Amino acid sequence: MQENLIRTDVTVIGGGLAGMASSIHLARAGLDVLCIEPALEEGSVVGESLDWSAPELLRALGLPMEHLIAEDIATWKRHVVLQLWDGTAYDYVPGPWLGRSPWNIELRTLHVDRARLRNALTMILLQQGVTLLDDRVSAVDREKRQVTALTTQGGKRISSSFYVDASGFAASLFSRIFQLPSHHYGPRKVAIWSYFDVSDAIEGTTLHAEGARPPYMDWIWEIPIHPRTISVGYVAPGETIRAWRQQGSTIDEIYRERLSRIPRFRALVESQQSAAPLVTSYRCSNYRNITGPNWLVVGEAAAMVDPMTSNGVTAALRHADEGSRLIARSFHRGRLPRLAAAMYNRRVIELARFFNCGIEKVIYDAPIRNAIGVVNAGEVYTIPAWLMNLFYSRMQPRGLFGTGLFCLALQSLRFAASFFHWLCRRFSKPSTARMEFAS
Ligand SMILES: Cc1cc2nc3c(=O)[nH]c(=O)nc-3n(C[C@H](O)[C@H](O)[C@H](O)COP(=O)(O)OP(=O)(O)OC[C@H]3O[C@@H](n4cnc5c(N)ncnc54)[C@H](O)[C@@H]3O)c2cc1C
Repeated sequence: MQENLIRTDVTVIGGGLAGMASSIHLARAGLDVLCIEPALEEGSVVGESLDWSAPELLRALGLPMEHLIAEDIATWKRHVVLQLWDGTAYDYVPGPWLGRSPWNIELRTLHVDRARLRNALTMILLQQGVTLLDDRVSAVDREKRQVTALTTQGGKRISSSFYVDASGFAASLFSRIFQLPSHHYGPRKVAIWSYFDVSDAIEGTTLHAEGARPPYMDWIWEIPIHPRTISVGYVAPGETIRAWRQQGSTIDEIYRERLSRIPRFRALVESQQSAAPLVTSYRCSNYRNITGPNWLVVGEAAAMVDPMTSNGVTAALRHADEGSRLIARSFHRGRLPRLAAAMYNRRVIELARFFNCGIEKVIYDAPIRNAIGVVNAGEVYTIPAWLMNLFYSRMQPRGLFGTGLFCLALQSLRFAASFFHWLCRRFSKPSTARMEFAS
């Protein structure tokens, strides 16, 4: 029985991106870290197009952009292309002047092969002395809001001073156990994706969409994870997919049919027998009160941001960085300081709400798109999102004043988007507002 008891400084639940990054930061801070992950060999990790703030966070883990490119873990992302079905294309690219003095902003970011990135992070994690346990947490013991121990499916009992929940959106372990309040944006969505060999991948992410007409947008991503391999994913509301499934279509048939509407993909689908597509479902959401006396939640277990924002990886790495600092700083006290924990809460929540509200109201839902056109709607979403991410990375708001000011800016922009959405809906033709999901 005694050999089944493990004692560590910190236990991290989940070895996805957020869990691995947290483990590495905590181990570097001199703490004894156990990371529990039941699916290390699983090949279906997704999330390949990175926002412009992500590379700096990867560098901090020991993975600079040049290394990721040289090791064939990543490709360059220099822009985002919106490709409409009528053939028109629009390029969202940061102005070259931003790269020059006095701004000196890095205008490139990356697409990553997530399986290879996970392998690279696992090596760093092991080098840092983190213990990786191939197991699943099955029970959490607690006294009021204090976590006292974990039990795993493999029969291990784990006791730590601190716990990090990085169990992802599907599990959201602590949020369920502590019944944390949550906020949702938009409908449940389904993503179906696969990989194809190509000879003409570009150094950018392409979003294929119909444009202004649909009441709620479905779309296809095209992401070159290697110079000759693209990831192609179809995203639609869950009820749309369910209706097709009820008519007898398989996931594979839905995926192929949706891709075949675009000439570039029609040829690929016909010429290549890709493996059965991968599928997942999610709902954009965030939990509140994601810290306790000796625990905090990071990554998608705390907040799920829509894939179209390309902000999930940035968020996971940010949470890991900030959450680990908080634990390392307060480790000697045995509990998280209330104010710093409350500020961590606010930043996680407000950033997630800002991105989810923006993408739902401005892009997915029809009123703004139909009023100003999909290309302009793209600008209305992209410019504030890009700028707020940039400000956040540069200013690193932390204390009461910095966090308060930054969150106020995020809230103002969110309210502006909601107001604009309301105005456009108010004055739009009834048919365009038929399907309402944004909350
Ligand atoms: C369809 C889709 C497309 C996306 N595209 C993008 C994109 O282009 N760009 C971008 O930046 N982001 C994207 N994202 C988001 C991005 O993938 C995630 O934000 C990122 O992977 C962070 O994940 P995480 O570590 O928080 O959770 P996960 O990667 O889900 O990791 C959680 C881990 O916890 C483990 N776990 C679960 N339960 C337990 C338990 N009980 N005990 C122990 N371990 C447990 C799981 O096995 C899993 O490995 C996308 C997401 C989706 C769904």
